[in-house]
Amino acid sequence: MKIYNTLTRKKEEFVPIEEGKVRMYVCGPTVYNLIHIGNARPMIVFDTVRRYMEYAGLEVNYVTNFTDVDDKIIKAAIEEGVSADEISKRYIAECKKDMKALNVKEATKHPLATEEIDGMIEMISNLIEKGYAYDSNGTVYFRTRKFNEYGKLSKKNIDDLEAGHREIKVAGEDNKEDPLDFVLWKPKKDGEPFWVSPWSEGRPGWHIECSVMSKKYLGDSIDIHAGGEDLIFPHHENEIAQSEAANGAEFSKYWMHNGFLNIDNKKMSKSLGNFFTVRDISEKYDLQVLRFFMLSAHYRSPINFSAELMEAAKNGLDRIITAVDNLKHKEANVTNEALADEEKALLENAKEFESKFRKAMEDDFNTADAISSIFELVKFANVSVNENSSKEFIIALKDMIIALSDVLGIITDKKEEILDEEIEKLIEERQMARKSKNFARADEIRNILLEKGIVLEDTREGVKWKRA
Ligand code: AMP
Ligand code: ZN
Repeated sequence: MKIYNTLTRKKEEFVPIEEGKVRMYVCGPTVYNLIHIGNARPMIVFDTVRRYMEYAGLEVNYVTNFTDVDDKIIKAAIEEGVSADEISKRYIAECKKDMKALNVKEATKHPLATEEIDGMIEMISNLIEKGYAYDSNGTVYFRTRKFNEYGKLSKKNIDDLEAGHREIKVAGEDNKEDPLDFVLWKPKKDGEPFWVSPWSEGRPGWHIECSVMSKKYLGDSIDIHAGGEDLIFPHHENEIAQSEAANGAEFSKYWMHNGFLNIDNKKMSKSLGNFFTVRDISEKYDLQVLRFFMLSAHYRSPINFSAELMEAAKNGLDRIITAVDNLKHKEANVTNEALADEEKALLENAKEFESKFRKAMEDDFNTADAISSIFELVKFANVSVNENSSKEFIIALKDMIIALSDVLGIITDKKEEILDEEIEKLIEERQMARKSKNFARADEIRNILLEKGIVLEDTREGVKWKRA
C-alpha cells in the first residue's frame, strides 16, 4: 500500500510502526456552526482510507477530535447570548448527525479539547522545563527557533517565515521573544471560559490540543496524521514542534492532506461566505451522493463543487444502486440454483475488477479509479446475467458490487419510495401537531420526510412539498 507522505513529498510504501495495526489521527472541526461541505471532505476521504485499511486486514485505531474551545465559538455564544459550552455541544451533536448521514464510521475515540486540559497543562509544563517554552505575563509561548527541525513539513525556511494567519492575536503578543513564537496558553478575557493553570486563568492554544489528544489516545509516535492541506502550516508544523520537543520521538511517520473543495475555483470557507452546509445539500440530495461526489476525485486534487458534478455523481451512484436492485430481483426469480461451468469461468473474470479496484486503492487511495472498476463490474454483471443464470452466480456478482462499494462507504440499498398519499397524511399530521403547539412532533415529521427525500415549504397558500 502506497501513501503520499507530505513530510517527504513522495509516495511511500506504508509500513506501520506495529505490524497489522494503524494509529491514525485526523484533525476535526471547530464546532461553532453547522459543518460545510469543505469540512466534510477530510471526514469522507480519511474515513475511506480507514475503511480500505480495514478491508486490507489492518486494525485501525482512528482518533478524531472536536475543537470545542475557540474564539469563534466564544463569538457565536456572545451573539446568541448563551454559553460557549451550549454552542459547542449543540454543533457537536449536529456534526455527528451529518457524519452518520455521510456514512462516516464512528471514530475509535472522539476526544473533546475541553476534556483534555490537564494533559495540555502537563505538556506545556514539560516544554517549559525543557526550555522549549516560556511564560510571559500569563501567556505561554513556544520558542520556535529552538526546535531545529521547524519547517520540515511545510518546507518553509525559518528565516522567511511570518506568523501564520490562524495565529490568534492575544494580549501580551508584544512580549514574545521572537515573532515566530506561537501561543501554547493564553489568559482569559472577561467573560471567556477558562481553566486554572500555573501561568494564568486561561485556555490552551489550538495546536497544543491535537498534540496532547494524539499522545493520550495513540501514543508518542503514530502512523498517520491527517487533515486538510490548509492545516500543513502552521497547525501541523507546530504540532510536530511541540510533540517532538516534548516526547523526544518522531510524532507521525506519514502525513496525509486532502485538497480543497472549491467553489468557482476558490476555497469554500465560512469566512468567504461561499459555502453550502452539509445540511443544505441534504435538502436536495441523499448524502450518499455527496460522498460519491467527493470520492470521484483523488483526495489530493482540488475539486470544484458544481450542480453539474453533483448531478453526474447522482447518476453514477444510481447506476450502481439500480444494478444491485436488478440483481436482487433476478435472484428472487430465477430457478437455477447451482453454478454452471461457464459461470465459474465468468466469475474468475470478474475477479479482475476486484483486483483493479485494489490496485487503485493501494496506489495512494485512488478512489476515482476504484469507482471506475466498480462501474466496469456493474457493466459486466448487467451483460452476463440473464434469465438462465443461476442464483449462486447472481449472488456472487451482487455481493462483489456491494462489498467493493462498502469499502468506499457507499451504501447500495435502494431507498424505499414513499407514496404521495403517505406524504399528504404526514403533512396533515404535522399541521395538527403545530396547531397544538407540539413542535417537537412537527419537526420530527419534517425530518422523517426529509430522510425520504421530501422537502416541505411553508407558503401562504399552505404547505407545499416536492421530491428532491
Ligand atoms: P476547521 O473547522 O476550519 O478547522 O476545518 C476542519 C477540517 O476541514 C480541516 O481538516 C480543514 O483543513 C478542512 N477544510 C476546511 N475547509 C475545507 C475545504 N474548502 N476543502 C477541503 N477541506 C477543508
Ligand atoms: Zn489538529
